[in-house]
Amino acid sequence: MADPRTPPSVADHNLEQGVRHEIETCSPFESLDRLTVAPSKPKIPLSPDELRARRRRNAKRRVVAYGSILALIYAFWIWQPYEIDLVPHMPVPNPPVDPDTKHLFSPGAKVLVVTAHPDDSAFYIGGFLTKLGRSGAEIHQIICTDGDKGYYWIFADPAENRVIRRNEALEELHTWGGKDILFLGRSDGRLRADDSLVRKIRQRIDEVRPEYVICFDGDYPPRISHQDHRRSGEAAEEAVKGAPSVRWLMKFSTHAPNWICDISDLWDAEEALLKIHRSQFHGERLEMITNTVQNFAVDDGERIGVTYGEGFRCVRLR
Ligand SMILES: [Zn+2]
Repeated sequence: MADPRTPPSVADHNLEQGVRHEIETCSPFESLDRLTVAPSKPKIPLSPDELRARRRRNAKRRVVAYGSILALIYAFWIWQPYEIDLVPHMPVPNPPVDPDTKHLFSPGAKVLVVTAHPDDSAFYIGGFLTKLGRSGAEIHQIICTDGDKGYYWIFADPAENRVIRRNEALEELHTWGGKDILFLGRSDGRLRADDSLVRKIRQRIDEVRPEYVICFDGDYPPRISHQDHRRSGEAAEEAVKGAPSVRWLMKFSTHAPNWICDISDLWDAEEALLKIHRSQFHGERLEMITNTVQNFAVDDGERIGVTYGEGFRCVRLR
């Protein structure tokens, strides 16, 4: 115990001062003084002119706020690459056709597949292409964009994506037995069905002289679809006009199929093709994508009474 006669040290003095200060600041009397409410000023009513001015100010603020929200929604709509048809139209009548399948699935049949992105062929027509490759058909492919996701701006590395995705596309092509791919390297997410794209596809058609051109359906697309899909389909459809070799245009990802390819015994192959696109689908996303593709295949299969199918809209050109 400290001797009361010993003078306090500097530390003890500071501690004592601090405690005293705490006590003074927390004095109940001072707290009560602080809580005393100052008498409010009497409200002076606004004149009619002032009221009108205030209403105008508020109205202007509302216009700016709602306008900004609408501008943001519009900017997002322009930026993102999907298109929506709220009420999709259907061809009437739409009778089933047979795109001369005896010849299509035979050695020597010449086919050109035109897609927008490197994984489109696996996602939409993997079973069909596997069946085609096994039958001995000669299959060429054009991929319009590299799927580099450049439109995601700072969130993607387009140069790296381009290399990875081209390699995945080549691996897929070799798996289903395709011959070659022509990469057109157009801007991902911003594909235009312009003269230059149509010319490039037509050039390839003249080189390989396919009897069948397989592409996205630009006329009867699903209700929500990527704009690159629609544009690549429109460009391919334009390019086949007057091409002497092309007898059939077969359009996939369609809302109005008139022929279904039975892929019931090729589901394992379809799943394996999806797994090749590791940069796009892996883990839970791969599972989700596989389920989506499976649901499409079940729906198309039901149309002809089989387990799995892939639907096409076939148009005879000659
Ligand atoms: Zn795609």
